[in-house]
Amino acid sequence: MSARAKNNLKLRLEDLFKAACYDSWRSVMLDAVNHLDENHPDAITAFTKWMHCFERILVKNPGDRFNMDCWMLSNAVSTLENKVALSKYIVPFYMGEWLYFSPPQPTFKNENAHRRIYGISFPGSDFVEDFHPLDYSWLYHELGHHIIDRLNSNVFAPVTTAMKHLAQGEKRRFPSASAPVRKIISERLKRFQQAWSPESLENWTTEIISDVISLWCCGPAFLRSIHEIVHKFTGNPFLMDNTHLPHALRIRLMLEAGDSLGWSKYLDALHQCNKQWKTNNGDTASRNEFAAMVQGGLPSLVLKTSLDICRNNQLPRCTSSSVESAREWANSPKSITSTPEFILGAWVKYVESRKTFDEWESKVIDLFNNELKA
Ligand SMILES: [Zn+2]
Repeated sequence: MSARAKNNLKLRLEDLFKAACYDSWRSVMLDAVNHLDENHPDAITAFTKWMHCFERILVKNPGDRFNMDCWMLSNAVSTLENKVALSKYIVPFYMGEWLYFSPPQPTFKNENAHRRIYGISFPGSDFVEDFHPLDYSWLYHELGHHIIDRLNSNVFAPVTTAMKHLAQGEKRRFPSASAPVRKIISERLKRFQQAWSPESLENWTTEIISDVISLWCCGPAFLRSIHEIVHKFTGNPFLMDNTHLPHALRIRLMLEAGDSLGWSKYLDALHQCNKQWKTNNGDTASRNEFAAMVQGGLPSLVLKTSLDICRNNQLPRCTSSSVESAREWANSPKSITSTPEFILGAWVKYVESRKTFDEWESKVIDLFNNELKA
């Protein structure tokens, strides 16, 4: 790669990350250009693709909300980093919904993994009016995906071993099956593996782990967020599609995890949903397919793995005393102290009175915004 081509890349990056709030990301990208290996055109192509990803997603002129989200993000990362090293370079962007983004990363000479850039899409747009701390337990779900990215893949060993055994057992069950039956079995197994394998895109295993991480860190605030989504759902919650965790399974595991983390008294609304779904979707074919997909205790094993990840990495656990101190803070907030307290405080105020919540929220957001500008 010629010096001129390298220089051109640098100019494009300087332009892309022009805004002052992008300082740290700009320096990582420029540093990466210096590490590009001139003798490997593949690395240069990969780098250019990487840059294109950011060209598509970055907010060009970030506003106040962007600064709020940067703060929420970096504070949340600092609360999570006890044993697992997370990236300091997760950039907020706005695609209208919560989304974790791990762009294809080029490889460099002298790679320093901690300098990789990731992204999280926040709901709404880069407007202060779209900032709602009540929904930010989803931020912990998205960071859950990032934690999984940073963990050694052997944390999944119990899950993958169990999957292998289940698949072998299934094959042995029909030793002399006809060709059409064998085809059905092998297709079902393929779906099973695609859904649960932590390596497949949008698999159920990493979704469940991310849910549990958010529940672990945000407690009842996350239970509300989950309920907010599922109670509006009008489809069949037992229906399989390979990319999305069926709502019936998601709720079943949230109820189990909620109980084991001491939040039983906040589970009524989810129990209600669960009961309703079972009545409405009595014995449809989708229920049989559902039963086949959750066989062999795999969901409970994934749940256990999730809780082990939280415990072994010393993720900060939300407890009833966190709720009490968030209540104290929310009753007379003088400054924004931490992301989890902000989320939990918003939840406390919301549960207390929906009528006065909006007023509380806008006051605290003003306080936050002014604080960041000072
Ligand atoms: Zn997710």
